[in-house]
Amino acid sequence: MTDPVLLSPPDVGPLEESYVLDALRSGWVAPVGPHVAAFEREVAQRVGCGHAVALASGTAGLHLALLALGAGPGDVVVVPTLTFVATANAVRYTGAEPVFVDCEPTTGNLDPALLHDLLRDLRRQGRRVAAVMPVDMFGACADYARILPVCAEAEVAVVEDAAEALGSVRDGRAAGSFGRAGVLSFNGNKIMTTSGGGMLLSDDAELTARCRYLSTQARQPVPYYEHTEVGFNYRLSNVLAALGRAQLRRLDDMVTRRRQLRERYAKLFAAVPGVRLLADQDPGANCWLTTIIVDPVVAGWRAGELAAHLGAHRIETRPVWKPMHLQPVFAGAGARLTGAAERLFADGLNLPSGSAMSEGQVVHVLDRIEDFLSARSERLPLLIEPERFAQAPEKH
Ligand SMILES: *Cc1c(COP(=O)(O)O)cnc(C)c1O
Repeated sequence: MTDPVLLSPPDVGPLEESYVLDALRSGWVAPVGPHVAAFEREVAQRVGCGHAVALASGTAGLHLALLALGAGPGDVVVVPTLTFVATANAVRYTGAEPVFVDCEPTTGNLDPALLHDLLRDLRRQGRRVAAVMPVDMFGACADYARILPVCAEAEVAVVEDAAEALGSVRDGRAAGSFGRAGVLSFNGNKIMTTSGGGMLLSDDAELTARCRYLSTQARQPVPYYEHTEVGFNYRLSNVLAALGRAQLRRLDDMVTRRRQLRERYAKLFAAVPGVRLLADQDPGANCWLTTIIVDPVVAGWRAGELAAHLGAHRIETRPVWKPMHLQPVFAGAGARLTGAAERLFADGLNLPSGSAMSEGQVVHVLDRIEDFLSARSERLPLLIEPERFAQAPEKH
């Protein structure tokens, strides 16, 4: 029996081994050391930001960025409803309230026109908006050419959740560099990993220094332990920073492999009616995950049926994020919706996208998809009126 094919497993090898071994042998096993500083420098340079703080997770980075911008009880932070829960959780950690905004159907990224209207209405209600947190969905940068002017006009800071997007570019700028602060994740399933980790990026020296200070228990610069406010233990260890430096050296190759994989999926689905790829018009995306969107009326099958078929062959897939406004933990939060995120949740499927997939695994996945498609094309189309489908994703 072949090994299961996972959605996006870590891609590590001899280079990573040698870096981690170096960190261990150097004696810098404690959470400070030369690899941390070097990793920060290298990522900042790669993204084109003046400053970087290596952290224990991307979530920690989002939390600290919001704190540094002064987010707290009584404030509102605008978050895309289509995201991983960490974006919205970070808002709650500060005591501020998330307000959710829907996405563009083509990319799954924050809808700039809707954001404009929401910020206008929040201002009319006299709410203080501490930040807007666009997310670079599955590695494709949000539309900053439209989002940044909207936020500038409303005088609201942008925290870019680039957790999924290291290595992506848009309009000549790198993911992570668009906001007052940007946050990367090096969790085990991301484009590159430190097993767990993250990084905060910014051109603002003061903001970065504040985050660094909060990440080390808010310790005052005196010889004894002096604390004037509550801090956090959010720093990345030197051993994990060593792993990150090795991964960073391989980042371009890993992005290339994911893009090649996306191309093969695109080719396979090009001739399949009712199936499109999310954000397929973005050549700068790192292709962290390839996502198909299946219109069940046109295709005659649902994304979940393909997921079940692949699952039976031990091929892992995953639905698109369940929108935050549907999550019980955020029941009652404000939301500006069009239904786009709910439709992507109903009709979307993330396919295996890991850069370490062998050619045999790739062929296995593509062949099993082909089996599924040819079995479907022999069946009659679904005998359900289109109007019922148009409504179906709205109910949960
Ligand atoms: C992974 C992820 C995070 C959180 O990063 P961690 O390093 O796992 O804390 C935040 N936002 C998005 C969109 C993510 O995909």
